[in-house]
Formats: sequence, C-alpha cells, structure tokens
Amino acid sequence: MKWVLAFSVLFVAAALAEEELVLADACDEEACQLPDCRCSSSSIPGGLNPRDVPQFVMVTFDDGVNIINIETYRNIIYNRVNSNNCPAGTTFFINHEYTNYQLVNELYNRGFEIALHSISHQTPQTYWAEATYEDMKLEFADQKLLMSHFANIPINEIKGVRIPFLQMTGNASFQVMSDYDLLYDSTWPTVTEINPGIWPYTLDYASTQDCVTPPCPTAAIPRVWVLPMISWLDLEGVACAMVDSCYFTPDLNSEDAWFRFIVENFERHYLGTRAPFGFYIHEWYISTYPAVRRAMVRFMDMINTMQDVFMVNSHEVIDWVKDPIPLQEYLQKPCRSFTPTTCPASSCGPLSSDHNEWSAYWMQICNVCPNTYPWLGNPLGQ
Ligand SMILES: [Zn+2]
Repeated sequence: MKWVLAFSVLFVAAALAEEELVLADACDEEACQLPDCRCSSSSIPGGLNPRDVPQFVMVTFDDGVNIINIETYRNIIYNRVNSNNCPAGTTFFINHEYTNYQLVNELYNRGFEIALHSISHQTPQTYWAEATYEDMKLEFADQKLLMSHFANIPINEIKGVRIPFLQMTGNASFQVMSDYDLLYDSTWPTVTEINPGIWPYTLDYASTQDCVTPPCPTAAIPRVWVLPMISWLDLEGVACAMVDSCYFTPDLNSEDAWFRFIVENFERHYLGTRAPFGFYIHEWYISTYPAVRRAMVRFMDMINTMQDVFMVNSHEVIDWVKDPIPLQEYLQKPCRSFTPTTCPASSCGPLSSDHNEWSAYWMQICNVCPNTYPWLGNPLGQ
C-alpha cells in the first residue's frame, strides 16, 4: 500500500512537471512576428538587403574582473568610439568568485554591458549539463541580485547569460531566464549556420539550430532570446566559438597573420548577410600573446572607422533585431544611454565561506560588507 501511494505521488509530480513544460512546435512564421517573436533562421530581420544592415560586432570577455585584467580593458576598450560618434560597446560575462565589484561598477559606468556567467563556475562540466531548474536559479537568478547589489548596478540593466564552458542545460536555464526577467542567452554555439549566419531568435517555437553542447532546449519558452555564438573557422576550417579555443591558429607571435585571420572571419559576415559578428575571448589569451592583442586592437581601430560597422553591447543587437531599421535610419538614432551610479566603496574581509573552508576571501564592493562570502543559496552573504 505504501509503495502504491509513493508511486502515485511520484507519478502526479512527474505529470505536473510535464504539464508546465510544453514541447515547442515547429515555428509558425505567420504567428511568430517581431518585436517579441522570431523563428530561428538565417534570414535577415525585416527582410533587409545586406547593404542596408548595420554590421554589429560583439566583443565579449568572460570570467572574473580583477585588478590585473582591468588594466587590459582600460587600455584597449575604454574611450573607443564608433564612426557614428557613439561609444563602442563591449559585454562582460562575469562569474562571482574573486571578482572585484568596484571594478565592475567602473565598467558599468563606462557604458559597458554587465552580464552573468554564474556564481560558482564549478567543474566538472557535467554539473552544467545535468543542472536542474533549481541549480540554474541559484547560479543565475541569484547572481543577478548579487551583481546588482555589490556592484551597484540597476537590476534591469542586467540582461544576458552565458553558461560556463558553453555548456547548455536544456530547458532549465531558459526557464529561469523567463521567470527572472533575463532577456537573452549567449551560450549556444553554431557550427553549421555560420554562412549565412543565424540571427538571434526567440524560443516561442522549436529551434532549428544545431546542438553542439547538448542538452539544448525543447520547450516553448516565450520571449526569451537566443543570441547564437556563430563560430569562427580556424586555418584548417575547424569551427571555434571562442577565439581562444581555435586550434589551427596563425603564429601566435605574428600580429599580421592574426590580423588577417580576424579580418577573414569578419568578412564572412560583412561581405555576406551581415549577421552579428562575435569576437568572444578571455583576457588571459591576449595578455599571454601580445601579438594577438595588437592584432585585436588593430581590428577594432579599423572597424571603428567603418561607416556601416558598429561595436556594441550584446543586448543592443537584440534591440535592433526587435526593430530592424535600415542602416541610414540607424545612423540617425541617438547613442545608447544608461543610468550612472555611484560606488560607496567597502573593502571586506577576511570573509569565511561554506564552500571553501580552507581559505578566507576579501571582497571589494560598493555597499556595506556582507557577513560571509556570498555563494550558492546565500547570494548576499547574510
Ligand atoms: Zn568562464
């Protein structure tokens, strides 16, 4: 009897979970219309001709922000301006551990986009592949609070998610994003839809994108955007989603060879259908290889003078796809704006932590010090 009861309780719970998760239908182009719905596709939003499409370039850096890597950002990213006189954008996908939140506040107040890359960034990668809704809530919904609180950033300015190791978590991360007001995910690489490149789309209907790091989402999750990571091709034609994960690279000591490599990948977009071009990299790579850094700077200097190329915060790409105005109209638009904030600085520590009893942490934050080191289940360190 007990067994039967336990079994039926389980059965009901499973049935309820199934009910919440409606499998996505094939996309209905008639029903799915901008600004809030878009089928996964490489067709240009608004049916524009490629020459009327602003070519967006998304430079992104992943992982913690600290007093070492901020120097690179200050040197190569600050004070860049696009040809339309608007400040150039860059998105930082930041994980929590060892991050200096006063520097995150500085990046935010320079107009850059602050996005989420999890609280724990833990290994092994299978943790992420198997993560549940609850895991993703603790990693991302709570990180949104944590980031907003300690870096003093308006919570609505935090819109993007990139899961560690570019490991998809099926429906879980997207359901959390939908429930906690996160606009887009930039985790999902494509190796097949690179020429022509796939454009950002929503998950109202089933995605047709290739799934490189399964599990990929299967449910209908309205209004959440996928910002696909369109891979680069290395010198042997092997796809790489992060620049620093390319295998057959040019000579790491040759600025010229690297500059040509970057431009060749860029031109696949710019001379094609102008799907957004991603330059996804970790700071350690360019500080390890100065020639790569010089090539990257040369590339950014070049695109900052081009009349139809715009280095932007990633969320601006979603904004444009929702309302795909032609280049000439885009040029008339005011620059993006944001609400500046202050950072009442505190230096906190030593702070104990539950997840790592062998070391104490120090935190540089805006706001008042927490009691313990913030972590999963206790994002404000209370
Ligand atoms: Zn990472």
